Amino acid sequence: KHYDRTLRLYDKSLEDKFQLKHYIVNNIDTAIENGYIKVYYQPVVSSKTGCICGLEALARWQDPNYGLLSPGSFIEILEEYRQIYKLDKYIIEEVCRDYRRSIDNKLPFPPVSLNFSRLDFELCDIVGYLCETVEKYDVPKQFIDIEITESALTDQQDFLPNAIKNLRSFGYKVWLDDFGSGYSSLNVLKDYHFDVLKIDMKFLTDFSSNEKARPILENIVNLSKQLSMLSLTEGVETKEQFEFLENIGCDRVQGYLFSKPVPLETLREKISAGELK
Ligand code: C2E
Ligand code: CA
Ligand code: CA
Ligand code: CA
Repeated sequence: KHYDRTLRLYDKSLEDKFQLKHYIVNNIDTAIENGYIKVYYQPVVSSKTGCICGLEALARWQDPNYGLLSPGSFIEILEEYRQIYKLDKYIIEEVCRDYRRSIDNKLPFPPVSLNFSRLDFELCDIVGYLCETVEKYDVPKQFIDIEITESALTDQQDFLPNAIKNLRSFGYKVWLDDFGSGYSSLNVLKDYHFDVLKIDMKFLTDFSSNEKARPILENIVNLSKQLSMLSLTEGVETKEQFEFLENIGCDRVQGYLFSKPVPLETLREKISAGELK
């Protein structure tokens, strides 16, 4: 009897997952057309000055049936069904539009980093699309950076090194995201050039209790200096973590200590209220 019940519960959650999966795949076009996909921005802060020196664009899906969906519930599915490029193209356009609107209204707009999926390069000419869109909205290229995750680079495929070279030759900065979360980190640093090394937040999860976290972080920061990359640690949640990172010379920090990802208007309100500078 007991067994029966757990089995049913298990089936139910599987069924929900299955339904959401199909909902996502079947509704991505509509969601884009109807403006349900939103760009949230999370500030990147300079350790030296404490000022915002950039924003990361993070996708949200404000769905009329499911409510606010986080990337955790749709990115993987869109990748699995090879639809992710639709979302990433839309985010490019939204960010460029936000930039143009801000500049036209004489509002400041720091550089923005966008997350690209490895599949974007395979499924469409994402670099070409980026160049066209940037031109259409007259956005200076130095305002757009591209974040690529480490796992995206572990597949031995030819188009990705070329894509990275192209991006850089067109004037975009390329960041290595989630550094240290995969298994080929150091190789990747040898074979590609990145402008910013984004250190995975896993190193901070047990920061106070795990004595090994500090020397590891310090060495990654030093390594990035020696390889002429800026270092950025993400997932900074406490003052203790921030002070340590500041002390070891980590150039930039990002995390809930400063701000969660929020809509652009909310970010502006926080700046006006003096919560961020
Ligand atoms: P990511 O690029 O590594 O982004 C960092 C994630 O950590 C974000 O989750 C952010 O909200 C969260 N985060 C930031 N600061 C903190 C903190 O202090 N503590 C904790 N616990 N979390 C923090 P989010 O927005 O849910 O995005 C998850 C992932 O989805 C991203 O990881 C990225 O890989 C992917 N993603 C998000 N937007 C896009 C997009 O437009 N395109 C693509 N291809 N992927 C995206
Ligand atoms: Ca990222
Ligand atoms: Ca990351
Ligand atoms: Ca990630």
